[in-house]
Amino acid sequence: LKKAKRKLWEKRDVAATFPRRNAYAHKGVHGKALFVGGSFSMPGSIAMAARAGLRSGAGLATVATVESAWPSVAAHIPEATYTRVEEEAGSMVGVIDSGIEGYDAIAIGMGMGRKEGAEAMLRNVLEKSTCPVLIDADGLYHAKQLLDEVSVRNAPVILTPHPGEMAHLLGIKVPELLARPFEWSQRLASERGVYVVLKGPATIITTPEGTQYVETSGNAGLAKGGSGDVLSGILLAMIMQTSSVADALCNGCFLHGKTAERLTEDSHSQVDLLATDVVEGLSQTLRTFS
Ligand code: AMP
Ligand code: MG
Repeated sequence: LKKAKRKLWEKRDVAATFPRRNAYAHKGVHGKALFVGGSFSMPGSIAMAARAGLRSGAGLATVATVESAWPSVAAHIPEATYTRVEEEAGSMVGVIDSGIEGYDAIAIGMGMGRKEGAEAMLRNVLEKSTCPVLIDADGLYHAKQLLDEVSVRNAPVILTPHPGEMAHLLGIKVPELLARPFEWSQRLASERGVYVVLKGPATIITTPEGTQYVETSGNAGLAKGGSGDVLSGILLAMIMQTSSVADALCNGCFLHGKTAERLTEDSHSQVDLLATDVVEGLSQTLRTFS
């Protein structure tokens, strides 16, 4: 392993790199995102991701989900458009009806389920799309079989595992990962040419070149189902609005964590905070630096 360059990502870094809205902007300027995920038993994950993406500035969002999840997802995010994915017993297995052309970034995996057919769909997205692809949650489960495809991809791939998912990807145990999180992140990032966002109380962001950033905002209020789905949506929106993927990832983690911090100071406790509160709370955080 080469010697890592490491940096703590601070408020002044955010201020220097955070995307600003141009007065002459139109929705096409801020990116068209595709969110692939959701299933009959996990409809909320993809709704939260897409909603967080639009709240974080994405211009347009399309949700690709199964028909059995669609009504509940659409009820929570009417601003998105929808495309159908073939399903088997409520989980996605097949191709995306309207294809994967014309998007500026794709997030895949949140609540998608672990049916074998979903792996083929992820493979198709990696091989056929030419935009950045962010893989989270069940997508990371499938990605373990697709690391060779990931390695040869020309456009950026962003993996956003929590420690359990990261250990699975690497084929190691969680304590082994947590004993050397920087080294393992760097190994995965440089061997596969990907960005790795290893989530936790201190999130480690590693670039394919091996530069590492540490982002420490947030608190245990985020230790609840849905937090990671919200982060994925934020990160995808940031990627579409920022020229540097690394800056986008660091700023997205900051926005997510700072929003949780502010909410648990002002109106919520770390006990009651919900992932959807974080989505709606993004507004106040964004007002302070955009
Ligand atoms: P996931 O496990 O995929 O739902 O992702 C959890 C998200 O919440 C990640 O962004 C974590 O960094 C964040 N998170 C979870 N627990 C904590 C904690 N104790 N302190 C700070 N952030 C946390
Ligand atoms: Mg997650």
